[in-house]
Amino acid sequence: MSNLVDPFARAITYLRVSVTDRCDFRCVYCMSEDMTFLPKAEILSLEELERLCGAFVRLGVRKLRLTGGEPLVRRNIMNLFHGLSRHLESGDLDELTLTTNGSQLAKYADELAGLGVRRVNVSIDTLDPHKFQAITRWGKFDQVMGGLAAAKAAGLAVKINAVALRGVNDDEFDHLVSWCGDEGFDLTFIEVMPMGDVGGETRVEQYLPLSMVRAKLAERWTLEDIDYRSGGPARYVQVRETGRRIGFITPLTHNFCESCNRVRLTCSGTLYMCLGQEDAADLLTPLRMSDDDALLDTAIREAISRKPKGHDFVIDRRHSRPAVGRHMSVTGG
Ligand code: SAM
Ligand code: SF4
Repeated sequence: MSNLVDPFARAITYLRVSVTDRCDFRCVYCMSEDMTFLPKAEILSLEELERLCGAFVRLGVRKLRLTGGEPLVRRNIMNLFHGLSRHLESGDLDELTLTTNGSQLAKYADELAGLGVRRVNVSIDTLDPHKFQAITRWGKFDQVMGGLAAAKAAGLAVKINAVALRGVNDDEFDHLVSWCGDEGFDLTFIEVMPMGDVGGETRVEQYLPLSMVRAKLAERWTLEDIDYRSGGPARYVQVRETGRRIGFITPLTHNFCESCNRVRLTCSGTLYMCLGQEDAADLLTPLRMSDDDALLDTAIREAISRKPKGHDFVIDRRHSRPAVGRHMSVTGG
């Protein structure tokens, strides 16, 4: 049982860490093409990130996910994985994992597996190389496919994350399901969340409720409801024909906050207690004020005591402004 329990009796056992806000892609729903990133001086060092994660583990966090931005483009990121893998060895941590766009997996899959990483989430919205280019702007499809092959060869379990985008990839969902079946990957569909100004197309145009995705899939596949939970907010079904799972993350049409067990740390030491709320706690100051972790522990406990009951994402149909001003790459998906 975690030492960190919020006011609604939810034990906080899962920390997601955005290790960088930078990325080698510019996905249309996530970033604008001309993003301004945090100045390097405001970014925690890898040693500081390791110390912060260590404090959370000591206080009861059992699962760590590194994300971003693109976690694997941060320089020397493997040093952080090395440091954190010690908590797996000691038994204090159940899982160390990451969410990645896959561009660097060919380089790192073996090393990650060697450090005790068992699963990776890889974000791919389309299997059409031209569409892939249009969605990611800067991504290279073949590079990502190479990364996936390397992950498989290294024995990593792969889950594909696909954002459902109206008029963009909604003709490909069946193909994604059969491809994941062939490859032995699970698949999770994500609804577009109204976070950060991304320029160009509006969220209202991109938004596709997953209830519609599910209904469309059910025309072709036998979807069986299952109890499986991955520790995240997705609800899962099993596809009888492929034997693989499909998850649906539906922040807009289904409220999953009652079972929320997670908090999110940014690469500048800000802790967000809820993805859909602005309230945040500064952990950088207590971290740097003393080498002893007492101040840090107090700040973490105080932050958890403010964790809100839930979010109130809404795609605002009258205005195109995002419901939450920061981009997903700041807090990590
Ligand atoms: N770069 C890595 C990646 O793409 O997997 C990790 C960070 S990315 C912010 C994490 C996840 O958030 C990805 O699966 C991405 O598709 C998703 N994402 C980004 N912006 C989103 C948005 N506005 N709505 C829904 N999902 C979003
Ligand atoms: Fe980068 Fe991931 Fe955002 Fe795409 S979704 S721009 S890969 S951080």
